[in-house]
Amino acid sequence: MSQSEQHSTLTQATVRITEQLEMRPDREIDLVIENKILHSLADALTSSPRKLLELLVDLACEICDADSAGVSLLEEQEGGATLFRWVAMGGAHKKYLGGLAPREGSSCGECMDLNSAQLYAMPRRFHDHQTAADPVLVEELIVPIPGAESKEPIGSLWIASQSTGRKFDREDVRLLTRLASFTAAALRMQDLLVKEQDARQLADSANDAKTSFLTNMSHEIRTPMNAVIGLSDILSMSSPLTSRQREFVRTLQSSARSLMDLINDILDIAKIEAETFDVEDMPFSLTQVIEEVVSMTSVRANQKQIDFFVAQSAIKDVVFIGDALRIRQILTNLCGNAVKFTEQGSVQVKVAMLNTFEDRSALVEMKVTDSGIGIPEDKLEGIFEKFNQGDTSITRRYGGTGLGLAITKNLVERMGGTITVESEMGRGSTFTVRLPLSLADEEYALLAITPVLGTSLLPAPDQSNWPRVLLVEDYKPNAIVAQVYIEDFGYRCDVASNGVEAAEKALGGDYIAILMDVQMHEMDGYEATAVIRQEEKRRGGKPLYIIGMTAHAMAGDREKCLMAGMNDYIPKPFDPKLLKSKLASLLTQPS
Ligand code: ADP
Repeated sequence: MSQSEQHSTLTQATVRITEQLEMRPDREIDLVIENKILHSLADALTSSPRKLLELLVDLACEICDADSAGVSLLEEQEGGATLFRWVAMGGAHKKYLGGLAPREGSSCGECMDLNSAQLYAMPRRFHDHQTAADPVLVEELIVPIPGAESKEPIGSLWIASQSTGRKFDREDVRLLTRLASFTAAALRMQDLLVKEQDARQLADSANDAKTSFLTNMSHEIRTPMNAVIGLSDILSMSSPLTSRQREFVRTLQSSARSLMDLINDILDIAKIEAETFDVEDMPFSLTQVIEEVVSMTSVRANQKQIDFFVAQSAIKDVVFIGDALRIRQILTNLCGNAVKFTEQGSVQVKVAMLNTFEDRSALVEMKVTDSGIGIPEDKLEGIFEKFNQGDTSITRRYGGTGLGLAITKNLVERMGGTITVESEMGRGSTFTVRLPLSLADEEYALLAITPVLGTSLLPAPDQSNWPRVLLVEDYKPNAIVAQVYIEDFGYRCDVASNGVEAAEKALGGDYIAILMDVQMHEMDGYEATAVIRQEEKRRGGKPLYIIGMTAHAMAGDREKCLMAGMNDYIPKPFDPKLLKSKLASLLTQPS
């Protein structure tokens, strides 16, 4: 009888012999092997989810002593048809991996419809798609793979034998059912994993885009702000000004500074979130840092007639290793808030060394206490979260953004420290920062970073010699501001407005320093530096001292300047006192 004649007389029910399972002899259950198999599958799931199904079908062949095994999952085709895809194949039928089989009129389809294990004998007699299967399937045992939350099955797991000598039994059904539930769980987990990977990638690229947007914006805003702040400072020193004009200038100065603080805060938050935030390890004097912070904040305290006390004798003359700039930022935030939220009484800063250890590390405690308005108890917990302010009326009355404490907490934690707060409404607050800091070796003591304030300790530039400085700046208002300051410090200041002019002038003049803007059209500061360095090499002699100036102020800018051959770096808008001390220190260097 030909195969097509056979097919016409057979029904699907004829090739299905599931009821015979009941008559087959029982087999001893080997739970130890089963356990081992589930463990190795679980291992594969955590280390290589993609290889899991391959391993699963190989193991199914092994424990059921089958000649082949496969996982068929339902797949919707374009146009709406649903087919099975052989997503994993083991044993003799591995070559069919990735192939498709019909949903209707197939053994897998029927098993899914009946939603229970089914056994078939010589299924090719009825299932057309199996006629070409090589080798021929003699017995085929199929179990459905359950869908999530007991929804319809999503596919099937099957094993097959190629000889009449191997007959599947109820133990095979039990094992296969276990493996099918494992497959279902693994597929759900893979799905979750894929979504979670995808989500992270999306979040990462969104974060990168946000950081680069903020960096560029901050550059664009800082550049003209530099001019606004500088020119308003110069204007405030000019005379004669009427009292009204003086008031205008003061408002201009304070508005410009608040705007700059806001830009800096937003940039910091972006850097923290993008994790591009670097913490430096350099020798520094904490006493000096505190003095700088106090001299800045005590001005406002004086205006409000609040007493400002500092107790820091415990750390006098100690040189620590850490990030002075960031510690200054932490203290500025805390002291600024203390003065801002206090109407009468006092603000106190107390510094103590809690512990020193044999490995030259120390635990330093800094407490900022005020007798101000206090923080409501129910707001204390969330006070370090960004955009969190004690009360909406506080925002109206005192302004602010609610970013300061979030940044402060992040900075402290990046340095391995802790910050806590205690407060009582109407009586005041105490913020306590504990930081682990290393103690510098003696020889580093002298290297502690140059104080930003207190430049009077440095020798004043010799006015009679009028040392020359070349300022490279393509934004005219910024050039005017810088030039006024530089001349005020006692230097003759030449200006170049692009990189080409800068290289030409630098090589032709007798400059103690070149202040090199980085971003310029035609030729940028890095390129101009390269031209200068190349020509110096050719000519020989002492190389020029080049200080990079950039409004980018992102982590890594300093390194970029140094890598490009510059000697130093100043962020813009420049701090006049810092610039003054840097120039003065050049005069004291041996030539
Ligand atoms: P901002 O001061 O810009 O609002 P912060 O993050 O520095 O942002 O502070 C968040 C909030 O915490 C403030 O709005 C204020 O309600 C409260 N706060 C911070 N420091 C003090 C303080 N010393 N005394 C009272 N309230 C404070």
